[in-house]
This record gives sequence, C-alpha cells and structure tokens, in this order.
Amino acid sequence: MEPKFITDVNVGKLGKWLRLMGYDTLFFDEHDDGLMVKAAIAQGRIVLTKDSEFMKRRAISTGKVKAVLISSDRPEQQLSTIISTLKLTDEYRPFTRCLECNAELVSRDRRDVKGSVPARVYEKHDQYMQCPSCGRIYWRGTHWQAMSGKLSRLALSQQEKKGEDL
Ligand SMILES: [Zn+2]
Repeated sequence: MEPKFITDVNVGKLGKWLRLMGYDTLFFDEHDDGLMVKAAIAQGRIVLTKDSEFMKRRAISTGKVKAVLISSDRPEQQLSTIISTLKLTDEYRPFTRCLECNAELVSRDRRDVKGSVPARVYEKHDQYMQCPSCGRIYWRGTHWQAMSGKLSRLALSQQEKKGEDL
C-alpha cells in the first residue's frame, strides 16, 4: 500500500514535496503532539518530524506509530532521507495531487480549461490537471518542469546509492 504521511510543523516544506510526488500528506499545524499521534494512528500515517523528543514517545517506541526523524534543514536533503529510509524510489506518481489541499487531481482537456488559464498558457499546453476540491488548475509549465527535474535527480541519486551497496 502506498504510504501516507503527516508532517510536523517543523518540516512543512517537505510536505509540499511529498504532495508533489503524489503522496497523501497531512500538514499538522498544531502544537499538541498527542493530536498528531492520534491522527497518525486513526489514519495510518507515517509521522515526519525534526523533533527528537517526539521520537521518544511510547507510541513510536512500541511501533504503534511509524515515524521518521528528519535531521537536515534543507527540504531536498529531507526528501532524500525519506526516499532512502522508506525506499520510495520507483513508486511515486508526480503531479497527481493538489499541493494546496491534498486532493487527487483529475485530468482535463484543453477545451475544459479555456478561459480558466492565462491565454499564453492555453496557447502552449494541451494537458491539464484540476483539483476537484479547490478548483486549482495545474499544467506542465516551467515550475513543474523544474520540480520534476529535481525529483528525478533525487530518485536517480538514490538508485546510484543502491548500486554502490551491491
Ligand atoms: Zn486543491
């Protein structure tokens, strides 16, 4: 089964990257860690946090909740930690989930989005994805390409590391 995540406030940016990879990710933005544990248990989510104290909680030490401790401050390095710890290299589905509200995107034809995207975008792109929840429309623009490039470099560097281990 595809992993689902919950990101602590201290790794919020990482959460966006995970959504970008297509993972169901909840952003936890309250200060009561107990609530985060409850949500993780109720929804079967893996907790991602920079808080080493959190890792000492009973629910974690007993294995009731799975958690990954993130040490780096850089989102790319953080993502790299998750990819290697959970071995996510081959299974992600980039650009299938709304970065803002976590809903799964649906594909839209060009004619569906006419008038909803800037004319210069409409001229250049044939394929679009739309969030059924907030209505936001995504297309393969330069931002998309840049992030996609970063993602494949990260995944590739993980594969190379795997190769060295053999
Ligand atoms: Zn949305």
